[in-house]
Amino acid sequence: MTTLDDIAVLGGPQLPQRRHLITEVPGPRSRELAARRATALPAGLGSSQPFYVAAAGGGVLVDVDGNSFIDLASGIAVTSVGNSAPRVVEQATAQLQAFTHTCFLVNPYEGYVAVAEQLNRLTPGDHPKRTALFNTGAEAVENAVKYARVATGRPGVVVFDRAYHGRSALTMAMTGKAAPYKSGFGPFPGEVYRAPLPSPFSSHGDEETAREAALDALHELVDIQVGADQIACVVVEPVQGEGGFIVPSEGFLPAVADFARQRGILFVADEVQTGLGRTGRWFASEHEGLVPDLVVSAKALAGGLPLAAVTGRADVMDSVHRGGIGGTYSGNPVACAAALAAIETIEAEGLLERAERLGELMTERLRALAAVDARIGDIRGRGAMVAAEVVVPGTHEPDAGAVAGVIAFAQQAGVVALNAGTRNNVLRFLPPLSISDELLLEGFDVLADAFAASR
Ligand SMILES: *Cc1c(COP(=O)(O)O)cnc(C)c1O
Repeated sequence: MTTLDDIAVLGGPQLPQRRHLITEVPGPRSRELAARRATALPAGLGSSQPFYVAAAGGGVLVDVDGNSFIDLASGIAVTSVGNSAPRVVEQATAQLQAFTHTCFLVNPYEGYVAVAEQLNRLTPGDHPKRTALFNTGAEAVENAVKYARVATGRPGVVVFDRAYHGRSALTMAMTGKAAPYKSGFGPFPGEVYRAPLPSPFSSHGDEETAREAALDALHELVDIQVGADQIACVVVEPVQGEGGFIVPSEGFLPAVADFARQRGILFVADEVQTGLGRTGRWFASEHEGLVPDLVVSAKALAGGLPLAAVTGRADVMDSVHRGGIGGTYSGNPVACAAALAAIETIEAEGLLERAERLGELMTERLRALAAVDARIGDIRGRGAMVAAEVVVPGTHEPDAGAVAGVIAFAQQAGVVALNAGTRNNVLRFLPPLSISDELLLEGFDVLADAFAASR
């Protein structure tokens, strides 16, 4: 039997880039860890995959039993530059050796300032901007709302159907899916209002009617029910993440941005999942020429280390009183070094173009699959953020069972894929941008087998 010591603990792109199973999944070492976990961790902490990771890099995850899996998830869009990407490892290591923490609120350091400069440069619009750093997506979304409230002097927040903004009290209220994110955790903060968000698939081919209806509903909510002078911001994901990779109907988001601007409401783009190159642009807002007042980034920002940011109009960001924003760990220096390295990697390795290319490959493969499997009702996404919605053939009725079956089959065959969608009937793909064409296509061969096996 393979022992832990036999397994490379060094990750990064030098790991053999292959799908290779040497035990059942989960293997004996993973099962041992699962048994320890069962007595040490609370039951409510889930993991969608049963194997425990020993190393990762390029396009693979290697488990503690020595099995090598194709990674189509990137730890939910985090390791876009690849796991243990060389620049990230090198620059974060150097920072670890220099100092690990001072608290930016006590002793400041250059890395924080440099990350802010980069995000001010890379986010849409060439107006004066400021960036504040945080630890998690939810924390950054909450702080975006704090900025918007102070800048406008208004309390209300408008969010959309199927939104996912996090698991803190305020962001649970902003999230549009009860199970598992909200069930039992209320009461939630008030002043959060939800509006419909039209998509090509949900509008049954009549996008214009759906878009106009959604804009009418937004007007009814904001102008009639709540009062525009009570609304600080609208917060929207330019491509919905957990909600099922829903790209809003073309023209809807620019119309929402205009609607907000006319009423002094700030337009906040939650780009936690879409930002930093995932969709083939630095920020997904760019696909429709949006220039948000505030942009929230997190997941892919620091190559796997926890870091999040709010970047926004200087006048909005400067409206908050001194000392009003911050946190003990916010903008940790090691995470900042990793973020600078991740941004450098995206630029040096042309990863925006790479995201486009991976998206084309995935879309092509899914179209071929849809041609022989009528359960694939919709294929959508932007760049390397691609999903297939799985339905009862010829209808819009969700088939979550088929998605669960495909994911389970893929896992047993050495491929990691994720679900999404408020009905759990969406297969979503977020490969690291460091994956090779060959490995990606092999992963999609396995998915095709998985669909075939359940037909
Ligand atoms: C993941 C996610 C969040 C929450 O980020 P955490 O780091 O998990 O708190 C918020 N918004 C979107 C769009 C996300 O995908």
